[in-house]
Amino acid sequence: MHIKKQRLLTPGPTPLYPKALHAMMDADIHHRTEDFRNLYRTVLADLKEVLGTQNDVLVLVSSGTGAMEASVSNCFSPGDRAIVCTAGKFGERWVEIAKAFGLNALVLEAPYGQAVAAETVAKALDANPDTKGVFVQASETSTGAAHDIRSMAAAVKKTDGIFIVDAITGLGTMPIDIDGWGIDICIGGSQKAFMIPPGLAFLSVSENAWNKMDAAKLPRYYFNLKKEKKNAASGESAWTPNTALMLGFAEALKFIKQLGMAKLVDNAQQLAHATREACKAVGLELFAPDNPASSVTAVKAPQGMDSGIIVKEFRNRFGSIIANGQGSMKGQIFRIAHLGYFDFPDLFGVIAELELILHANGVPVRLGSGVAAVQRVYAERAIVKEATVKV
Ligand SMILES: *Cc1c(COP(=O)(O)O)cnc(C)c1O
Repeated sequence: MHIKKQRLLTPGPTPLYPKALHAMMDADIHHRTEDFRNLYRTVLADLKEVLGTQNDVLVLVSSGTGAMEASVSNCFSPGDRAIVCTAGKFGERWVEIAKAFGLNALVLEAPYGQAVAAETVAKALDANPDTKGVFVQASETSTGAAHDIRSMAAAVKKTDGIFIVDAITGLGTMPIDIDGWGIDICIGGSQKAFMIPPGLAFLSVSENAWNKMDAAKLPRYYFNLKKEKKNAASGESAWTPNTALMLGFAEALKFIKQLGMAKLVDNAQQLAHATREACKAVGLELFAPDNPASSVTAVKAPQGMDSGIIVKEFRNRFGSIIANGQGSMKGQIFRIAHLGYFDFPDLFGVIAELELILHANGVPVRLGSGVAAVQRVYAERAIVKEATVKV
């Protein structure tokens, strides 16, 4: 048997930043000590810097969905009017959370692969002046489509409602100006562009959102944002934190600070562009060609082929773990991730593997055509010039 390295190439969890992984082994510290308080304060300050916001930032021990739920349970009362945008499985999660907590949800739905237009949100806000909040995904990971959250924010800003963005795969893959655009709650998760394992969610909270919390009547206990804010002020979390992940998060944030958030975004955008070019070069069709996200590229399986075969072949032949479609998209699409700790050599490999898999399954493809497309993007883009300057 030949060596087959396992590579995790999904849009969450994503490849791990090695230094963060190593830092996690130092987890034998107690969370009510000065050591932990220093760590926590550093994480919160660095996170704030990386997100580029003056708003408060909080970290929760949960996967990303915990912060989504917290934004609903902390800011709203039963029966509150909310506008919920959905264009995929994660948008459907917003709808489910809103309904579970008894919000009066007006659902704006776009077909899978497309995005809800900002204009549609603006019109819905005009027609529903009592709207208390608008929910959306920055990047819909299940379809690879991105929303125009900047224009949506502008529409929400004209109202009394708050704008809540699930930016779990948007952060680090697209420019997001939380303060400049007016995003009241911006949610992220550890296992996406932040390069560490699943288990931490985080969010920024605007003054406006804090004010809403004073009147919000929905029940909450574990996810109590005011309590978290109060504890964070003294360097602690409300409950026992995930100390190991916090250590990893600190390292990852240090790395992202050094790199610069804009560079992290540019990295994802370059890889996303190259992925799209490669897929077109091998004759595959993109699932969300009109509003493509830079977090993940969803690709349609060739005619008559189940995308599950491609996913399975990636794993069996090469040890590469890529994502299938979710829900009804399962079997139809496969997804190539490029958020966080991904680089061009990763993509050279992924596309070469894809070509070999298609070839082995009788799909006509010229070996090397997709890889050449990625190489062309690499050669044409600033990355090369930048490297040249350094030499
Ligand atoms: C990963 C992800 C989430 C969070 O899912 P969890 O399993 O709770 O971490 C939410 N929204 C989007 C867009 C995601 O990609």
